[in-house]
Amino acid sequence: MLTDEIKAQLIQTAGEARKWAYAPYSNYPVGAALLSTSGRIYDGVNVENAAFPATICAERVAIFKAVSEGERDFVALAVVTANGGSPCGFCRQVLAEFGLDTAVIIADVEGKTTGETTVGELLPGAFRPDDLERGEG
Ligand SMILES: [Zn+2]
Repeated sequence: MLTDEIKAQLIQTAGEARKWAYAPYSNYPVGAALLSTSGRIYDGVNVENAAFPATICAERVAIFKAVSEGERDFVALAVVTANGGSPCGFCRQVLAEFGLDTAVIIADVEGKTTGETTVGELLPGAFRPDDLERGEG
């Protein structure tokens, strides 16, 4: 159950994580916080690289941290940026792998929610694991 209290906690966690972002090129620090069905929260930040494509977003860091610790079912993801930016296409695809119903809460540095949606709404027609099975052969 995603209560307002939990949403606020996720936004706060994402906002606090944001200070660890390594974003010397974009100067666009991002913090994310992902709540799993187990109740644990995994945070993440964007980690940029002088070889730009090697950069990874905060959302994917949070997801990969969670998956690497055995989590695969997620309730909600909060993303905090200076201006309430939305997850990029790569992150939408990675989120879609683990479910379309995961809530996505977008907030700014003031903690103000600027958007609330789901992975499925962010990525209509997502390519999913069952698409591979249907296309075998
Ligand atoms: Zn991204």
